Amino acid sequence: MSEEEIRAGDLTTTATKQRVIRCAIYTRKSTEEGLDQEFNSLDAQREAGEAYIASQRQVGWRLLAQRYDDGGFSGGTLDRPALQRLLADVEAHQVDCVVVYKVDRLSRSLLDFARLMDRFDQRSVSFVSVTQQFNTTTSLGRLTLNILLSFAQFEREIISERTRDKMSAARRKGKWVGGTPLLGYDVDPGGGRLVVNPKEAQRVREIFELYRRHRSLHTVVAELARRGWTTKVWKSKKGRRHTGRPFTKASLRLLLTNATYAGKVNYRGVVYQGEHSAIVDTALWDQIQVEFRDRQRPKTESTRSEQKALLAGLLFCQSCQRPMVATYSMKGERRYRYYVCHQARQNGWKSCPTKAVSAKLIEESLVGQLRVRLNSEAMRRALHLPARDWQAFLHDPAGLVPALVESVGYEGGSGTVSVRLRALNGTFQEAQH
Ligand SMILES: [Zn+2]
Repeated sequence: MSEEEIRAGDLTTTATKQRVIRCAIYTRKSTEEGLDQEFNSLDAQREAGEAYIASQRQVGWRLLAQRYDDGGFSGGTLDRPALQRLLADVEAHQVDCVVVYKVDRLSRSLLDFARLMDRFDQRSVSFVSVTQQFNTTTSLGRLTLNILLSFAQFEREIISERTRDKMSAARRKGKWVGGTPLLGYDVDPGGGRLVVNPKEAQRVREIFELYRRHRSLHTVVAELARRGWTTKVWKSKKGRRHTGRPFTKASLRLLLTNATYAGKVNYRGVVYQGEHSAIVDTALWDQIQVEFRDRQRPKTESTRSEQKALLAGLLFCQSCQRPMVATYSMKGERRYRYYVCHQARQNGWKSCPTKAVSAKLIEESLVGQLRVRLNSEAMRRALHLPARDWQAFLHDPAGLVPALVESVGYEGGSGTVSVRLRALNGTFQEAQH
């Protein structure tokens, strides 16, 4: 593969031009967002935008006097008066740059967002989100933006107030409230309850036993790998097949600390008696919890020197629906890592529009955005991410990525990245061989 080819999938920044950039601040707040203090008032959003524009004054940014404020409008539709005015001004070449406090102020729909970006692009209008620190004048900014949007949509799906209330009530009653089926259990097709899968349950018990014997995540991970036990293969309701993956220390630890195995349900740190049967002896389960609590700091995958690519097995080419595999090229002394679409590698560069992406770029963007999203307590709750794991993530993000990220799709043509996250409860399963 030539350097030129690699660069085709790489993302490079474009130079900033020195000229007057007329900036319009758009603000929005919907009525139901009153509870969330993260969504500041229209004035606060505008102030943040003004401060940002002022900070860019030396590169020619100037604030337009017109206000584009939509108070009491949902981000799920484009039918908003101030937004429509803004779009008209964009069409009339009155605006060079649109500034928002947060990406989802402009739109909460990926599709609408893509359309807006198109319209901005056609008029050479750039887009900046103040709190998320990127702008679309760089392709890195665009990549970041797309990652952010996938998260925003995910967040909206799982953290809606209604779901939260329903889940909390159900959990307090000890009900299984969904998510991916849990190793050792199947989800009763007749309704959302867990039934023991005897064969898997036996494996779960053996895993607990292995840990009791060896007292080392590292040793047990190695033993599970030797046995060829991977996470569970299961099918979603829509028939999508989820493949098994080898256990990591992070996923093993999450399995060993999952209250479900003791017949319980953990909701926001409070353990309730579950409706389902336990498959691990309560005394053993408790004993292991105490041990983990004593150790406190989870051992992250500290031997990163082995250099397994962070997104190996997680990254897919969206155009070809094929995995993207980690590889590198040498340029003098320097090693450039990137992920290349399996299709492109097998059948030639022209067979895939995505081709390759810089590993550093996509890994850093993903981790950076995970950091931003996980900074929200609501998000961490939704993902069942305990405080100690969050601390571990801040210390060494790589340890948690394989546990939290189900898959990452990348489409090279548009630079679109879609991330599927999964909650940490009930997701670590092995395959049936
Ligand atoms: Zn491809």
